[in-house]
Amino acid sequence: MRVGLIGLGNMGGPMALNLMKAGHTLAVHDVRETAAAPHLEKGAKWAQNPRVAAQGVELVLTSLPGPAEVEAVALGTDGIIHGAGSGAIYADLSTSSPSLIRRIHAGFKAKGIHVLDAPVSGGVIGARRGTLQVMVGGDEEVFRRVKPVLEAIGDKVSYMGAIGCGTIAKLVHNLIGICTRMVVAEGFTLGVKAGVSPEALLEAVKGGAFGQGLLLTQVLPDIVFKGDFDTVRFALRLARKDLALATELAREYNVPMAMAALAEETMLEAMARGWGDKDFAAPFMLQEERAGVKVRTT
Ligand code: NAD
Repeated sequence: MRVGLIGLGNMGGPMALNLMKAGHTLAVHDVRETAAAPHLEKGAKWAQNPRVAAQGVELVLTSLPGPAEVEAVALGTDGIIHGAGSGAIYADLSTSSPSLIRRIHAGFKAKGIHVLDAPVSGGVIGARRGTLQVMVGGDEEVFRRVKPVLEAIGDKVSYMGAIGCGTIAKLVHNLIGICTRMVVAEGFTLGVKAGVSPEALLEAVKGGAFGQGLLLTQVLPDIVFKGDFDTVRFALRLARKDLALATELAREYNVPMAMAALAEETMLEAMARGWGDKDFAAPFMLQEERAGVKVRTT
């Protein structure tokens, strides 16, 4: 396919090289012209601005820092909207804003240009190896057309729903990843201060239920999505006991545990509701109440 790619940074650079390796013809642009050197050497065409990069191609991709750059490159004076032809597809690979991509989608639609949001996850190593998770939002038929191209940059290319849904999924993913790191920091500082070596702790956490990934492979699909909090795999009262023992240990060793303290408050609230004999996933229902939504597939 003829592809235009704008933004040849840590992610966009290697993604462009993988697209070329897969046989696609590339026109590339970046505000830093030097970033295009490896691509031009391999036969990519230089475009002096986003408008030119979008001219005569079937697919335009952007991998830019954030919403401000995406807006300028998509809708600005020399933006993609002024270069892409009717029937072309624009997919934004950046981590940006759902409302912005919806606005771009509406603006481009008037010109007959399709828009997808397709943020990626997997880091620079994933970008180099072509093993990214690509989360795509937009028209499903348009998604199907570009899926084979996106498979050159990621081995997990998934359809998330209407325009903006790819970005929402990516933001949720990063929120979970970022916050989990803080709980992990609390746990590891506690464990090490209380006398376990970092290596031994890592082995324990990796090998246990958390490290085995049961939260994603069992708790969410089998308990939460089905609303089955009464089939008990591990009782809430026992989990509450474990968290209390851990925060007690933290007090003994003077280790601040902000995230754990918040989680404990929610545990206590769930216990006060009389949920002690439900599964320890039951506090999920308190967050559902606060958020005014149920996370169910049935
Ligand atoms: P980066 O800063 O390395 O690359 C951005 C590129 O865009 C740079 O080469 C920059 O010169 C170029 N650029 C900036 N403004 C421009 C403009 N107006 N016109 C043309 N080019 C412009 O960033 P990155 O790490 O490659 O990340 C790109 C996107 O991917 C971000 O949205 C980021 O959040 C997301 N992301 C990054 C990672 C990661 O591990 N680095 C992982 C997943 C997703």
